This record gives sequence, structure tokens and C-alpha cells, in this order.
Amino acid sequence: MKKRLDEIVEEAITALNTFEDHHDLMNLKSRFVGKKSELMGFMKKLGSLPKEERPIFGQTINNAKNKILDKFNEIEEKLKNLEYEKKIASNKVDFSMPGRPPLRGNLHPLTQIWREIEDIFISMGFEVAEGFDIEDEFHNFDALNTPKDHPSRNLADTFYIGNDRLLRTQTSTVQIRVMENFEPPIKIISPGRCYRNDKPDASHSPAFHQVEALVVGEGVTFADLRDTLNGFVVKMFGSKIRSRFRPHFFPFTEPSAEIDIACVNCGGKGCNVCKHSGWLEMGGAGMVDPNVLDNLGIDSEKYTGFAFGLGIDRITMLKYNIPDIRLLFENDLRFLKQFK
Ligand SMILES: [Zn+2]
Repeated sequence: MKKRLDEIVEEAITALNTFEDHHDLMNLKSRFVGKKSELMGFMKKLGSLPKEERPIFGQTINNAKNKILDKFNEIEEKLKNLEYEKKIASNKVDFSMPGRPPLRGNLHPLTQIWREIEDIFISMGFEVAEGFDIEDEFHNFDALNTPKDHPSRNLADTFYIGNDRLLRTQTSTVQIRVMENFEPPIKIISPGRCYRNDKPDASHSPAFHQVEALVVGEGVTFADLRDTLNGFVVKMFGSKIRSRFRPHFFPFTEPSAEIDIACVNCGGKGCNVCKHSGWLEMGGAGMVDPNVLDNLGIDSEKYTGFAFGLGIDRITMLKYNIPDIRLLFENDLRFLKQFK
């Protein structure tokens, strides 16, 4: 029997060395050490042997079985490694390929235009002054000569946040703070965020951006205002774009005007953008009301000044042909990615 067991072990090892696939391997295992194998048959015969011979034969059979199982485990391990290598090869990973570059962000179109506006005014000798988004009624209304019953003070137009505090409705508040604290000559722009209780639509947003300019000095005239504004429009939109003033009223300037520029889309011929008028409203302007100067301790007999305000959102929309102001605030990447 010992001889037969050795033969079985040899047969098993030879067979295992020539296995073909996993299925084959399981068949071999069942054939040599399975319940119906010849080896297990010997195990069953153990009971018919004399008691004293049983341990020796039992051990011999177990040794043979373990030899076959060791070989089986060795081959199975080898098979697993082979399959893993095959898998890697079929994935065709090319480790020499360059990696994917990380996504690069870009500045928001409003920020780009904001910076361009600052650069233009700085090149014209202006300084940039910034103020607070949260203001008091004095700086937002009183100091700007706005009557107590003026509709812009209404809750329907202004966000009040209690204790005489409100979200500024214009960046003119910065001009007031500069005039309170500095002697003329003053030559500043104040870009910033403003808030009005407007229902959002294609051209209105409750939060928006303005840039205001203020010049106060001896002998400052309306001609200087026109000159400065034209200079800005030409640098921003090109030399062919004309601008015009229409008489208007603002509490803090006298005389006051509304500023129009020739439609940047059609050049003044008339199109959908300008509602076929050839002109686009850009903001308001005027000579600083002497009352405003006197209230802030600046001698209106000696000094004069002009101020104007423009919408940064409006300029951005015109520059990039953006049809709806809400696009500027929705943070939609499909929109923002276009401004690289
Ligand atoms: Zn037009």
C-alpha cells in the first residue's frame, strides 16, 4: 500500500505541474484528494486493519495527502499571480504617459472689469478708496443732501438692518468719508458692492457693483467732468464710442446729468441691446452740490468738485455681451469658464 501511495503522490504532482486552468485544477484536487479518490479509499479501509497498524497507515496516508495539498496550494498561488499579471497587461497602463494637468481657475468677469476700471483711473491720476458695505443713514443719505422724505430712503428700496444701520445703496458713502477726513485736492474713485431692495430680473439684482469718482479742488469745472468721463469711456470701449449728457436731478449734485454712451453693440445705429435708440444709459454725474461741501467743512466758495457713478455690472455686461445680470451672481462654471 505504501508503494501505491507514493505512486498516487507522483501522479498527482505530475498532473498538477501540467494544469491548464483553474477549472482543471479543481478537477485534479477532487480526483486525488476528494471524497471518492483512491487515497480516501485507503482511509476508509483503515478500520479493517489490526488496531496496532492503524496509526502508522493513517499517518502514511495523511503524509501523502499533505504532499498533494502542498503542491496544490503552490500551484493555486502561482495561478493567482499569473491572472493578476494578465489583468495588468490587458489594462495597458502606460506609466510613461504624462498626467492630466489640474484645472486652472480664472478671475470672475466682474473682478476682471473692476481691475481694468481701477487701472484706467489710476493712469488718470486717481486714487482708489474703499469703504464699508454696512453704513449709517448719515453717510448714505443725510450727508448726500437726500431729503428725509426722499423715496430712496423707503423700506421698499433700502435694506435696513436696525440701529440706524443699512446696507449702502451707493458707493457715494465713501466720497463722504473721504471729504470728512481729507482736505482738497481730492481725486478718488470708490468701487464697491451696493444693495437695493430690487426684485432680481435680467437687468436688476439686489446686490450690484458701482464705481464712483470724486474730484474736489480749486477751479474744477463741468468741462473737467466731461473730459474725465470721455477719457474713461474711450479707454474702456474704444475711441469710436461717443458719450452724451442728459439733464437730470440728483440730490447731491447741481447741475446733474445722466450719462449715455453710444451703443457698443451697434455703434449707435440702433439694435436690440440699445432698444433701437443707439444709446445706452451708463450712470449719473454732476457738480458736487455746494451744500454737500459746506456740510462736510469744505469751503464751497473756494472749492468746487464733480462726481459720477457707473455700474460695474453694466460695463461688464456690455464688454462681454452678457444678456442677463443674474449670470454674474449664479456661479455657474459653464458661464464663468468662458472668461479665461
Ligand atoms: Zn445698439
